[in-house]
Amino acid sequence: MRSVITNGTVVTAVGSYNADVLIDDGTIVQLGKDLSTEGAETIDATGQYVMPGAIDVHTHLDTPWGTTYTTVDDWRSGSIGAACGGTTTIVDFALQTTGQSLKEAIDGWHAKAEGNSVVDYSFHAMVLDLTDEVLGEIPDLIEREGIPSFKVFMAYKGVVQVDDEALLKTMLTASEHGGLVMVHAENGDGIKVLQDRFAGAGDLGVEFWPRSRPPELEAEAAHRAIVLAGLAEAPLYIVHVSSALTVEEIARGRARGQQVYGETCPHYLVLDESRYLQDDGAKWVMAPPLRDASNQEPLWRALATGTLQTVATDHSAWPLKDFKDQSLDDFRYMIQGAPGIEERPSILYTYGVEAGRLSLSRFVDVVSTSPAKLFGLYPRKGDIAVGSDADIVIWDPSVKRTLGVDQIHGNTDYSTFEGIDVTGEPALVMSRGRTIVRNRDFVGKTGGGEFLRRDTFSAP
Ligand code: MN
Ligand code: MN
Repeated sequence: MRSVITNGTVVTAVGSYNADVLIDDGTIVQLGKDLSTEGAETIDATGQYVMPGAIDVHTHLDTPWGTTYTTVDDWRSGSIGAACGGTTTIVDFALQTTGQSLKEAIDGWHAKAEGNSVVDYSFHAMVLDLTDEVLGEIPDLIEREGIPSFKVFMAYKGVVQVDDEALLKTMLTASEHGGLVMVHAENGDGIKVLQDRFAGAGDLGVEFWPRSRPPELEAEAAHRAIVLAGLAEAPLYIVHVSSALTVEEIARGRARGQQVYGETCPHYLVLDESRYLQDDGAKWVMAPPLRDASNQEPLWRALATGTLQTVATDHSAWPLKDFKDQSLDDFRYMIQGAPGIEERPSILYTYGVEAGRLSLSRFVDVVSTSPAKLFGLYPRKGDIAVGSDADIVIWDPSVKRTLGVDQIHGNTDYSTFEGIDVTGEPALVMSRGRTIVRNRDFVGKTGGGEFLRRDTFSAP
């Protein structure tokens, strides 16, 4: 099927220009002025931006918490929420359970996503049990399974935390085969000590959640990971950077010439730790925690100047009622994670572009192009270019609305961003040339998404 998007402003990571976009059989085949519309469906984008679909490289769909609960967003509801916000590719974390091989974990994630996701998708291998056998699987996952990214935890002592030996070995093995190591950078030993001290003094309220995980412990872990990656001559990606101190560590590593990359999340950009003083503070329990508001401008500046490259959501959808709120009496055992898969583009557009912190092109870069490049999806995804998949968002910059649970297409009973005003939303979203969202209503079909076999790491 052929379609032409006419009269819009094409926006890519390198600039904007007026052009029509011709799509044939799911692929962008021509860009130019006054393209022939003969035999093609015509989509008028007057006054709107024509951008590559956003890519969310940090989600947790259909993921268990212990053995009793599973996130309320599965691949169908989560990907519909993503699509309605303008996201057309998801890279989710395939959770390894103890004793399981990474391959088994990846196969399990294929079974969850296939036939359910409405947008294209891939997985990172999330390493919880780092044995020599698991290390030995890394080359095969990269070379045969199309999975070139591996997440390890420097926090959660006694549960999933890896020591420096395991971290360095992972970096050496992955980089030798073209893989990228992603770290959750928080010093789990330090957190354990602070948690025990607060708990020993009877300080168990949610306000001790951020105080037990201060930015110094995030920055220390980031620094250590960067040093080890330097020794291994390995690229490194630091997920969910929340603080100015950690930005400084990444900047120093990059200034030394290291391939260090950082991601932040919408919640760190627009929310702060005063939320933990509210009665509904459990909503915002995630790790790292929300920070003092003074961290927000440094994060925005880091995105604008390239010290941070991506914004992803860390979407973890737990119900507030009868789940997250049940753990309020002891911060050490709180259910962590917050939803956000749908709101990311609108928040970045409003508080980035409209607020003058990011150019329009940089907005497209941090939500789409750089994630595609870092995770082996470019130029198939992340660009409006001849030969790229027609994953396209037609962005209406004039719409104003207030975020809240009534605006969400996923299954959570609250919005992390309740009451926040935004400007701009997708008027139309395409996945490989098929219209799947119109005016923020899902009009696609369940299971329309395909697994994306990703390329090995190459520096963007
Ligand atoms: Mn994490
Ligand atoms: Mn996460």
